[in-house]
Amino acid sequence: MRAMAMPVIDHRGPEFQRLGRRVLEKLKFVFKTSGRVFIYPASGTGAWEAALANLFASGTHILMYETGHFATLWKTLAERLRLQPEYIAADWRDGVDPVRIEARLREDVSHSIQAVCVVHNETSTGVTSRIQEVRRAIDAAGHPALLVVDSVSGIGCADFRQDEWGVDVCVAGSQKGLMLPPGLGLNAVSEKALAFARRAGTAKSFWSWEEMIPHNDRGFFPSTPATNLLYALDVGLDMMEEEGLEAIFARHHRHAEATRRAVEGWGLDVVCRNPALHSPVLTGVLMPEGYDADRLRQIALEQFDMSLGMGLGKLSGKAFRIGHLGDINDLTLLGALAGVEMALGLSGAPHQPGGVGAAMAYLRDTARPTPDIDIRGAS
Ligand code: PLP
Repeated sequence: MRAMAMPVIDHRGPEFQRLGRRVLEKLKFVFKTSGRVFIYPASGTGAWEAALANLFASGTHILMYETGHFATLWKTLAERLRLQPEYIAADWRDGVDPVRIEARLREDVSHSIQAVCVVHNETSTGVTSRIQEVRRAIDAAGHPALLVVDSVSGIGCADFRQDEWGVDVCVAGSQKGLMLPPGLGLNAVSEKALAFARRAGTAKSFWSWEEMIPHNDRGFFPSTPATNLLYALDVGLDMMEEEGLEAIFARHHRHAEATRRAVEGWGLDVVCRNPALHSPVLTGVLMPEGYDADRLRQIALEQFDMSLGMGLGKLSGKAFRIGHLGDINDLTLLGALAGVEMALGLSGAPHQPGGVGAAMAYLRDTARPTPDIDIRGAS
């Protein structure tokens, strides 16, 4: 936030050029790619549209997979662009099943499907999907479809390896794991996807990767960039590099586990039913049958000044979400969990107290070892 409170410099000048070059280069490590990352002054929705508008002309057949509210919104966006998304209907409490992707691609003998589009971390539920296995499914089917991944809430929180996993385009945004305010949309793009887009020659202007490239190569952007957000990105990426990506992922996994222990302690269920796919980013919690999650959220907001994530789409009123992404530590998390436990108590929803104690015990037992200091006998 402090990094942003700076004068807006000339976005065609030498100081900006150094900033532009720095952030474009540094962004690559969070995607684990040596390819290009494009930055738009846009939210994640813009970055979704950018990916589809560069790659596919209207009428293009793509395969999308229902994992939750965001997968569904992306499918609707594809329909509005007049693509032909084929939507594999599935359970919101589980992730993408690579076996179903492989089976569908094997049926597509004419290779009509141009891409498989999946969400890495479904923010509406707290369920992740195994992107590497989706890539293996595409390869096992011997299918040339591109792999396009929404990691808007995964990037910087959950492990993601663009190059190693053979992801062609990754869609991301500034406001989740990168710890910035909303306002930057990102596309990490493989060479294969760039070549595909060149051949597709779709109608687009603002979103055009080709238009960006010559400007980006000199550290600039074709239109006015969100300069102050780029200051923040510059600092945020340094913070992430200093902590180390693997340490960041481990921190979020530990906080996710502590959160699940709290939920279990309350006697409630998490939305994610597949233990292998629990999100390190956020935890979706189901309210007891017949109790309104939005009423609980209202109590938490009014009494404790804490905003819980709302249930989205099918889960509206039925679930709430606890975020443990970005710049968070043990005590921030425990404060949030204490707020949930107190709000549950005030709401009259059936639950057991003591979830916070379970989370505390877990965080205590997994804390970094401290030097052995003998505190007996202090006067
Ligand atoms: N995809 C996912 C997984 C998201 O969580 C979001 C927003 O939360 C979006 C896409 C859309 O991004 P935005 O709301 O920034 O436009």
